[in-house]
Amino acid sequence: MTHTMQAAQVEQFGQPLVFKELEVPTPGPGQILVKTEACGVCHTDLHARNGDWPLKPPLPFTPGHEGIGIVTALGAGVRAVKEGDRVGVPWLYSACGHCEFCLAAQEPVCADAQFGGYTRNGGFAEYILADPNYVAHIPAGLSAVEAAPLICAGITSYKGLKETQARPGQWVVISGIGGLGHLGVQYAKAMGLHVCAVDIDDAKLAHATRLGADAVVNAKQADAVAAVVQATGGGAHGVLITAPSLPAFEQGVRMTRKHGCCVLVGIPPGEFPTPLFEVVAKCITIRGSFVGNRRDMAEALAFAADGKVKADIELQPLSAINQVFERLAKGEVPSRVVIDFSPR
Ligand code: NAD
Ligand code: ZN
Ligand code: ZN
Repeated sequence: MTHTMQAAQVEQFGQPLVFKELEVPTPGPGQILVKTEACGVCHTDLHARNGDWPLKPPLPFTPGHEGIGIVTALGAGVRAVKEGDRVGVPWLYSACGHCEFCLAAQEPVCADAQFGGYTRNGGFAEYILADPNYVAHIPAGLSAVEAAPLICAGITSYKGLKETQARPGQWVVISGIGGLGHLGVQYAKAMGLHVCAVDIDDAKLAHATRLGADAVVNAKQADAVAAVVQATGGGAHGVLITAPSLPAFEQGVRMTRKHGCCVLVGIPPGEFPTPLFEVVAKCITIRGSFVGNRRDMAEALAFAADGKVKADIELQPLSAINQVFERLAKGEVPSRVVIDFSPR
C-alpha cells in the first residue's frame, strides 16, 4: 500500500499551485478518509488561490470543494458512513451542530463552520480527510465525475433559486452562465420557472438557450437592463447573480421586478453601488446566499439522479490545474472542468 499521495497546494496567494507528494492522512476519531475519484474546479478555488476575500485560508492548503470519492477508512466512533460509500466533501466541511444557526439548518453561517479546500484541505489531492456528518451522499446512478459539480455549483444555484422565492410560471434572471449558472438554468426550468439568461459571452448564452432558457441578454449591450425588463414583462421576480464581476450586481438589482428578490451568490472581491431609490420605491429585496444546508444538498443531487439536471463537464488531469485556473480567470471554461483521478 502506498503511503503518499499527489496533491496540488497553494503556497503563496496569486501563484500557481505547487504539486507535492504528501503523506496520506490518517483519520482521527470521528473522521473518515476518502479516496478521490473526481473534483470539480469552482471559481471559488481561484478566489482562494488569489487570497481575494477578507477571511483568508491558512497557507499552505489544498483547494477543491467538489471532491467525490470512496470512503476507504473510518476513524474511531464513525457510524454515519461505511467503507465503500461514495461521498462528496463539500464547501461546508463541518459545523458545530449546536448553535442557533445549526439548530435552524442554517449551518453554512455557523461561526465554527470549516470550509473544504479553504480552512481544511480539499479535493485537489488523491485522498481527503472528511467529517462524516457533513459529507454529501451520492445517489446510486450518478458517477463521480457527474456528481462533482453538483456539490457546490449545483447546490448553490439551486438554493439561490429557492431563496428568490419565485414561483412556477414566474421569471428568473440568471446572471453568469458558467459553472453555477449553466446548472441554475436547468434547476430553474425543472422548478417551472421562466428563465432569462444573462452573460457577457454569446457562446455561454447560446448554451443557455440549448439548456432551455426562454430569453437571453448580453450584459455588455448598452440597454441590457431594458432588454431584460422587456423580455420579462416588467423585470424578473427573482434574480440570481452568479457572475464573479462587480458590474453584474448593480445591473441585476435593476433587472429585479417590483417586490422581487435579487439573490447574490457570486463573490468578486469589493463592493457595488446600490441604486437606493430604486430598491426602496420598488420594494426590492437583496439577499445573500451561501451554498446550502444538507437537505438542500440531497435535493440538488436528487434532481440530477432523476435526470432533470446534468452538468456539462470537461475532464482534465490534476497536472493541468494551473492551466485550468488561467482559463477560468479569462472566462474561457465553457461550463465546468472536473479533475479526473481515475487511473489512466
Ligand atoms: P465561472 O467562471 O464558471 O462562471 C462565471 C460566468 O460569469 C462566466 O460564464 C462569465 O462569462 C460570466 N460573467 C462574467 N462577467 C459577467 C457579467 N458582468 N455579467 C454577466 N455574466 C458575467 O464561475 P462559477 O464557478 O460559476 O462561480 C461564480 C461565482 O460564484 C464566483 O465568484 C464564486 O466564488 C461564487 N460562488 C459562490 C458560492 C456561494 O455559496 N455563494 C458558491 C460557489 C461559487
Ligand atoms: Zn464552489
Ligand atoms: Zn453551529
